[in-house]
Order: sequence, then C-alpha cells, then structure tokens
Amino acid sequence: MGMKYSVSVVEANDDIKRAVADSLGLIGWFPSRGEKMLVKPNMITAKTSEQGVTTDPRIVKALVELLKENGAIPSVGDSPGSAYSGRASEVFEKTGMLQVVRESGAEFVQFESVPPKLVAFEGKLIDSIGLAGPIFTSKLINVPKLKTHAQTVMTGAIKNLAFGCIPGAGKSKLHAIGTSSDRMAKVMIDVYSVIRPLVTVNIMDAVICMDGNGPSAGRVRKVGKILASTDALALDIISFKMVGVTPRNVPYVREAMERGLGPSSPDEIEIVGELPKNLKFKLPWTIISALTLRAGSLVPSISPTVSTIPSKCTRCGTCIKACPVFAIDMEKLSAKINTSQCIRCYVCYEVCEYDAIKVNRSLLGR
Ligand code: SF4
Ligand code: SF4
Repeated sequence: MGMKYSVSVVEANDDIKRAVADSLGLIGWFPSRGEKMLVKPNMITAKTSEQGVTTDPRIVKALVELLKENGAIPSVGDSPGSAYSGRASEVFEKTGMLQVVRESGAEFVQFESVPPKLVAFEGKLIDSIGLAGPIFTSKLINVPKLKTHAQTVMTGAIKNLAFGCIPGAGKSKLHAIGTSSDRMAKVMIDVYSVIRPLVTVNIMDAVICMDGNGPSAGRVRKVGKILASTDALALDIISFKMVGVTPRNVPYVREAMERGLGPSSPDEIEIVGELPKNLKFKLPWTIISALTLRAGSLVPSISPTVSTIPSKCTRCGTCIKACPVFAIDMEKLSAKINTSQCIRCYVCYEVCEYDAIKVNRSLLGR
C-alpha cells in the first residue's frame, strides 16, 4: 500500500458480477449515492464481445446493477467508429448491449443525439476538440476492451476515451492530424488530457481479447481477466505488460508518461491480484518489424499499404465514408484505394465488415 496508483487483476469466471465488484473493491473504489454515472464501453463496431471486438455486456450489466444497488444513477453510452457514425443504437442492438442496458434499467445515452461540446485547450497539436455532451454531466466509468490495434499497437483505456468520446465523424480529425505514429500519439494524448479529469474509474474487459490484426479483424484470445484502476494510464501499462507488450514502446503510452498524465513508470503502480504468466499477444502485421523492435519502439515503420479484395467487396461504401483523406473511390466491381493519397491510418481496414480490405504484408515485417 501507499503507492499512488493501483491496478487490480481478478479472475473472470462465470460470476462476472462478483469479479466486477471485487476488481473495484480491491482498488477501494465505491460509487457515491445520488451521483450520475455514465458507463462507457468500447462499442467500435457491430461485432460481439465473443468475437473479441466490443465490451462484454455482462460487465456493463454488472456495473449498472452495482451502481443502482449503491444509490447511484447509471447511464450507458458510446460513439462507435466511423463505419457506424450516427448509428450507435444499431451497434448496441446487434451486439446485445442494448438489451442489457434496457433490462438492467440504465438510461441509454446517444452521444450523437446532441451537438458536440467544443472544448478549447492548449494541446501539442490541437487547441480544440468537440466532445460528446453527456460526458460532462455525469462521472465517467470507462469500460475498455483489451486488444491489439493496427495503427496504435494496442487499444485499452486511454484509446477508448480519446476516440470514443468524440461523436461520429469528429474522429476523422484525429486521423487526419495523426498522420504518423508520433503525431497520432500526440493528438490522442491531447484529447485524453481534456477527458482525464472527468473519469472516476476504469474497468477493463480482458475476458475475451483480440491479438494479431486488431482492433476488429484479429484473432480471438481468451484471457479471462477483469482489471480496474482509477487511472487509465496505469491500467494500460499493466494490461499491456500482462500480454507481453512493453508499455513504453507504445507511442501514446510513452507520450502520456512523459507528460505526467499518470504514472511515469510501472514501478509506481501497485498490482493487487495475480497477473497471468507467459501471455504473449501477437502484434499486428503493421507493427511487426525487426528494425523497429531493435529501435525500441513499436511503430508501423514500414507502413504497409492497404488494398481491397474485389471478390469480397460488396460495394457497401462504408470505407469511402470513413476514410479521413478521401483516398478511396468506388469502381465498377469494388472499392479501390488510391495508394498515393493514403495516409495508412487503417480506418478502412477497421470498418469493413466483409473483410474485403487487407493490409499488405511487407518484405521486412513478418
Ligand atoms: S471494401 Fe468493404 S467497406 Fe469498402 S465498399 Fe467494399 S465491402 Fe464496403
Ligand atoms: S485508404 Fe484506408 S488506410 Fe488509407 S487513408 Fe483511407 S482509410 Fe486510411
């Protein structure tokens, strides 16, 4: 005890409610009576928790029940990725989350139903951002999913806040500015610095995770854990370490550490519970490269190109709407990516529901 930051790690077996309550109890966090609390899962797209993509509805249900039992006033909401801009209820519905929210008696909040609230601040790369109005009227309970990510190596607590609190198409501002790994780290942490004071606790779904080509087309990995911390950076550091990724090598984690937005090293974090041993997540193709590993930083150094697979493309147009730099055109048989315009943000890869976009393996990366 006595350390400023703590992260709890608990086994998530059948009794998810027990696990959620324990994870919070072990870090000494309890809801306050009469307080409005907004539970924010990761609802990036209409793929389920079992597919390793979105937050487990059982965790959200358990949280809502615990909040109500303690006299707090729960609501649940998120802004999905660009593919489902303005269609959050569809994602909630298809993943089973909407039913859980309704049954547990929480209010379902649509982040995109009100205009974003413009916040002015002094960031390194941006000086204003439009954020979802509801995050300012309740205390935020962040419920991220632990996964790999083709552009940012990993996604966890910080990324769920930095991207998921920007309603709809506003997310493309981050992609348009974050054109390199270093710039993406800076702009994400700019946004995180604004949201950080609004968060009361973070509970990570590491029950069914994803490695390889995350955040939506990778391999499902059963980890069976729930982790919690009042600090999102501390939670990211410990959970990334847990799956064999050196936290400092993740550019936005390093950026947050260097800006003092949480612990500056894993040594400042007390772990309450047992971390599983020998868990090693496979990284996305975009990140793996002997050269970058030697340089000590996981960045998509060779930035593999993306292309469409015409035989799988349904010409749905989702990728075209999602591309922040308008690098995709619809052709007669399929969508087509203009490589010279592409900034390798992998958003199209992330949003295509038909797995019709591939990241081309480079010669260096394996
Ligand atoms: S590549 Fe995927 S998202 Fe783009 S049009 Fe084809 S099916 Fe739709
Ligand atoms: S084509 Fe795909 S990877 Fe390239 S900029 Fe557009 S969304 Fe990003």
